[in-house]
Amino acid sequence: MEFTAQEKYEFKRLLDGLRGKTGRGTELISLYIPPDKQISDVMSQLREEYGQAANIKSRVTRLSVQGSLESAMSRLKLIPKPPANGVVLFIGAVDAGANKTEMYSVAMEPPDPIVTYRYHCDSSFLLAPLEEMLADKKTFGLIVIDRREAAIGILKGKYIEPLKHLTSTVPGKQRKGGQSSHRFQQLRLIAIHDFYKRVGESATEEFLPIDPKDLQGILIGGPSPTKEEFMEGGFLHHELQRKVLDALDVSYTDESGLYELVDAAQERLIDLELTQDKVVMRRFMKELVSDKGLAAYGEKEVRHNLELGAVEVLLLSEDLRKTWAKIACINRGCDFSESQVRTGASAPLGNCPKCGSALSIVEEEDIVSVLSKLADQSGAEVKIISTEFEEGTQLYKAFGGIAAILRFKTSHI
Ligand code: ZN
Repeated sequence: MEFTAQEKYEFKRLLDGLRGKTGRGTELISLYIPPDKQISDVMSQLREEYGQAANIKSRVTRLSVQGSLESAMSRLKLIPKPPANGVVLFIGAVDAGANKTEMYSVAMEPPDPIVTYRYHCDSSFLLAPLEEMLADKKTFGLIVIDRREAAIGILKGKYIEPLKHLTSTVPGKQRKGGQSSHRFQQLRLIAIHDFYKRVGESATEEFLPIDPKDLQGILIGGPSPTKEEFMEGGFLHHELQRKVLDALDVSYTDESGLYELVDAAQERLIDLELTQDKVVMRRFMKELVSDKGLAAYGEKEVRHNLELGAVEVLLLSEDLRKTWAKIACINRGCDFSESQVRTGASAPLGNCPKCGSALSIVEEEDIVSVLSKLADQSGAEVKIISTEFEEGTQLYKAFGGIAAILRFKTSHI
């Protein structure tokens, strides 16, 4: 299952939220249930844990652990069978501040299948397996080569993993006495060709088994004309050959050459990642200043356009941390209520403008999901835009993280 940008965003947010939750003792339960695991088996384990918890001496801890287990069991009852990727549950009495705890529980299907069953109790939730799934799996093949040696490795996320080092038997340019110049050159060319072939086969061996979806491209480094000869000579498997992105100058062709290659390709790699975001942001900027003006920004205006079905592409900054909340007066005799865009849960609510009583949140939802839902209803495309390039930062800072490219122009509100 491939995550969409929006799903990835929501998943990240969920993990952020879970990371901040703590329990008093070891009553926070994390359950990772693989798709082929029987829910009934998990239930009997929990029942057993419940029984054992009766031995806990401290009354408070005992009740709290048993409460978490009870909550876990009732949640599991709602899941007759794990979904395709399995299911993760996080349940327990979390610290709610002011010396209070509250029961928290969430169940979700992860982006990748769960392989190992885990039942984990601690004062925090076990998130590592989920974080692993979310980690950047984009992989690049790396080859550095000259006529004497070559190194093969991969770049995975931010890590370079050297895989192979090969040396050649290509003789130097200086021929030995007694050998004809022609013969010598011929032997040398054969040896070079053989070496390229060997490197190509080794690279194919390493790169071909990588999931083609993860293998984003191959970078080749070395001096000229070796790297060009290698790149154009068809020494790689044809499927890999198509993935060659660039040939770059590097001075080392051992393991350290792999690092040099990634450095040299940095701009190319970032570009590749950001190209899509950049293209769509440039389109927005262009629309903003054009006569047709098919652009909108800010929560109010974008929402207005979404409701009219006028949005073609919804642009949301990945750094956006806002919620849409329905606020009401706590005074039952007062009918004041309003919608607010809130930044951060701790932002003060203020007092009721009608009667002066305190205000409270009736309903709150992440603004990204509110707007994405509206986008889905009208068939608008949703783009979560990185802040790692100029226009992306601008979207966040100058446009409040919310913008849209429009299908047609609507009246401003
Ligand atoms: Zn009021």
